[in-house]
Parts: sequence; structure tokens; C-alpha cells
Amino acid sequence: MIPVLAAFAAIWFIGRIMAVPARQRLGLIGVLWAAVVLALLLLPEGGLRQALGGDARYWLVLGGLAATVLGYRAALATLRRRSAPPVEATPAPLFREAEVNRYSRHLLMREIGGPGQARLKAARVLVLGAGGLGSPVCLYLAAAGVGRITVVDDDGIDSSNLQRQIIHRDAGIGSPKALSAAAAMRALNPFIEVTPLVTRLEESGAAAALADHDLVLDGSDNFATRYLLNRLAAQAGIPLISGAMTPWEGQVSLFDPARGTACYACVFPEAPPPGTVPACSEAGVAAPLPGIIGSMMAMEAVKHLTGAGQTLAGRLLMHDALNCETRVIKVKPRAGCPVCGGGVTVARA
Ligand SMILES: [Zn+2]
Repeated sequence: MIPVLAAFAAIWFIGRIMAVPARQRLGLIGVLWAAVVLALLLLPEGGLRQALGGDARYWLVLGGLAATVLGYRAALATLRRRSAPPVEATPAPLFREAEVNRYSRHLLMREIGGPGQARLKAARVLVLGAGGLGSPVCLYLAAAGVGRITVVDDDGIDSSNLQRQIIHRDAGIGSPKALSAAAAMRALNPFIEVTPLVTRLEESGAAAALADHDLVLDGSDNFATRYLLNRLAAQAGIPLISGAMTPWEGQVSLFDPARGTACYACVFPEAPPPGTVPACSEAGVAAPLPGIIGSMMAMEAVKHLTGAGQTLAGRLLMHDALNCETRVIKVKPRAGCPVCGGGVTVARA
């Protein structure tokens, strides 16, 4: 019996040194074991039988024990495999190499960095108006890497717009502003998705246009649209960054009643009577003013989306360009506001 056991040990250890897989070594030992059992069953009494142990029953018991141990180990390995967490597929890199370089000045910043840039890329932002405020808003949001931008404007480009609406070009006079703005954004950053809507934001269809957006920026030029957008954004729980201008002054705020801050109607309950606030087509507007106010709107958007710093939520910034004075005042939800209920709306999940 001892020579056979020695043969088993030799197969196992010499095989291991020769890097023979354990399964093959076990197979070979199994074949030898079966041959021994067969020999003991068939051979007549004699020297060879004695050398093999004399009785097949010892080998059958030994084989049974070995089979039990091996079976137990196999069952244990299967259980371990099943209970192990699934190996996750390696996620595709979020930014292509060209994007990493493009956004490198953001990626370097502690307040933005990779996570902030990823939030910008994942964001869906609607910009209402591709005019004076919309120009810097669209350009900076595109440049900053906001992943999906919808720009809404039903107007065409007039030569009188070009004094301040810097997203458009002289060659585009007569063409729709939304398409011109979209082309400029795509030319600036081919890594983003831009959707132009050549339409006027009306009561019907506006809610659908707003749906699926995380943030709305209002650069519209009339009170009716401003109140409509505020109401729809508040209803949908979408934060609204609003900008407005007079010839020399501008104001910016972030209205987010779903998260406890004032809405536009809390601060400006009623539109001024028609004719009391002249449009810029009547009163004019200093060329860089929409650039200043629109850039502040884009800055608020980047901060809101990345979570950097303190936004203008709950505050209203007023800039007097003629005297270069800026003031920031606190604004609170107004009790009984017909739009947001004065901060009692339930936050969207
Ligand atoms: Zn309100």
C-alpha cells in the first residue's frame, strides 16, 4: 500500500513543481486509484495484491473520503463565488482626453475640480432669449462645458442687435437668433449638445419645453414672459436665474422657491404698468451692460450646478453701471405669493 501512496504523493508534488494544474494531477491520481482497486478485485491472491494493500475495501474507503473532501471544497468555492459582489465593468472615462485639457482650468480649482466639471457635463440647462443677456450666458455655459443647452428665441437677428448681442455675426442678419446662437455654441465647444428652439415661450407648450431641465436662465426682454417662466419653473421645482436691465442698470438673482427661497413674483409681485419701463428698443442700453449682467447669470449657473460658493439664492444683486456701484439685498419669500405660496411649496425630490 505504501508504494502506491508514495506514487500518489510523487504525482502530486512533482506535478506541482512542473506546474501541472491541480485538476490534471487529481485526475491522474484518480486513474491510478481506479487501477489499484480494479487490480485488487481481479488479481488472484499473491505478492502483488499484498503490495497493493491486500484488500480493495481500504482503497474504496480512502477514495470515498477523498471524494467527500474534494466535493466539500468544490461546494464551498461555488458558494463563495455566488456570494461575492459582481465584478463591475470598468466605467467608460467621463471625459475624453481633449475635454480634460479643455476644462483643465476648472479641473485645477478646488471648488470645481473633476466632480464639479462632471456635474456641469451632466447638467441640462434652458436659456430663454438669445439676445443681450442670452449672448454671454450661452457662450459661457457652452465654454464651461454644460453638457446640454436648450436655447429658446423666436426672433431674427437685426443689425441693431449687434451693438451688444455678441453671440451673433453680421453675416447672420435676418436669420433666427436661436439657430445663430446654437451654431456659435457648437463652434465654441463641440463636446456639448445644443438644442435651438425657434419659438416664443407661450403658456401652451412652455411646460413641455421646460421639462427635463435642471436649471433655467431667463434673459427675456418682457414682463409677460418673465412672469410666465417664473410660474412654470416654480411649479416644476426648477431653479430660475433671472436677469433684467434698464439702459444703465441691471439686476440678477436666483429664484428657487422649491428650496425655500423667494420666487420672482415674491420680489416683484406685479409687473409695472405698460409704458412705464421702456424696452431697450425705446430707451437704449449700454453695449457692455448685458455682458456684465449675463456673465453674472452664467457665473451663478456654474456655482449652482457645481455647488461652489454662495449663489444669489435669496439675494438680489443690482448693478448701476453709470456710477459703477453694486448692491446686494436680501429677498425673502412673500407670504401669500400666488406663485410659490411664500416658501411653503414642497421641494421636488
Ligand atoms: Zn413667490
